[in-house]
Amino acid sequence: MPGEFDLIEKYFKRPARHARLGVGDDCALIAPEAGVELAVSTDMLVEGTHFLAGTDAYRLGHKTLAVNLSDLAAMGATPRYAMLALALPGGDEAWLAAFASGFFALAEAHAVELVGGDTTKGPLNVCVTIVGEVPAGRAIRRSGAQVDDDIWVSGTLGDAALGLAHLQQRAALRADEAAHAVSRLEAPTPRVALGVALRGIATAMIDLSDGLAGDLRHLAEASGVGARVEAAVLPVGAPLARMPLAQRLGFAIGGGDDYELCFSAPSAATEQVLETGARCGVAVTKIGRMVGRRGATAALVVVDADGNPCATTVCGYDHFKALA
Ligand code: ADP
Ligand code: MG
Repeated sequence: MPGEFDLIEKYFKRPARHARLGVGDDCALIAPEAGVELAVSTDMLVEGTHFLAGTDAYRLGHKTLAVNLSDLAAMGATPRYAMLALALPGGDEAWLAAFASGFFALAEAHAVELVGGDTTKGPLNVCVTIVGEVPAGRAIRRSGAQVDDDIWVSGTLGDAALGLAHLQQRAALRADEAAHAVSRLEAPTPRVALGVALRGIATAMIDLSDGLAGDLRHLAEASGVGARVEAAVLPVGAPLARMPLAQRLGFAIGGGDDYELCFSAPSAATEQVLETGARCGVAVTKIGRMVGRRGATAALVVVDADGNPCATTVCGYDHFKALA
């Protein structure tokens, strides 16, 4: 069986292009351009917590990078470099080859360079640190939403949670719908081009990793405003559209792993947002509005077609609360 260094050499060492120094030394060396800020983020995927045991290795390689690209997209940053820390139960080369293929296919699609990482033995755990660039001062933070801004989301919501429900035999789906939902769960599409194109348009942005109910609340709280979402206009796929409202909301706002973008923008920017979505090939849907928030009122209210608050107890995913 090849050793740690053979595996790194064989599967993860690629020539550095933009980095001064890539895989092979104690550190990578990166020379940021003038006038640029680096956006840096880490996301870890743990077997049994973030993905089911036996998940396809190619898709897992894709997803571990995709979830990190999604964080950069949510800041409007352009992806540049990645670091990959792996704990592997063994040196299964077929698994590693498939994992690396999935990882590098997405990395190449976004011109991301793998410049380093760590490889160790242990329970399966994959962690990427990503570095992106954004013109100084132009990153889109969570804290910029204003009262009366519209709230938008990209794509459709709840597909990934539906895919998980299918894999866990909690949902009965047609075969084609099941395959679509599972691929949204296992191979999400980070909205990188859309995130970058929304610089100067979106006032605040977050990516939807833990469900809209929790993630939009974070954005609203960071901005000191309230979010009012209209349940009837939430963009969902056909299987969710057939469900009764309460069940649909459970998936669409309570389900994690969508990796869509949720952002605010002034209503005067409506046409610009729609054009930007069209140019980036991603549907964008206006789902509500930011409102003033007084005292202890909720940061997020979901209303039905009559404007009455939905009786929903759905909230975003929280690892530690989920364990309690
Ligand atoms: P050190 O002992 O200094 O931490 P390592 O032996 O862990 O160095 O790694 C050797 C080189 O290989 C380093 O440049 C490191 O960044 C890189 N590396 C290790 N694992 C990976 C991986 N999974 N993907 C990419 N680069 C890796
Ligand atoms: Mg090391």
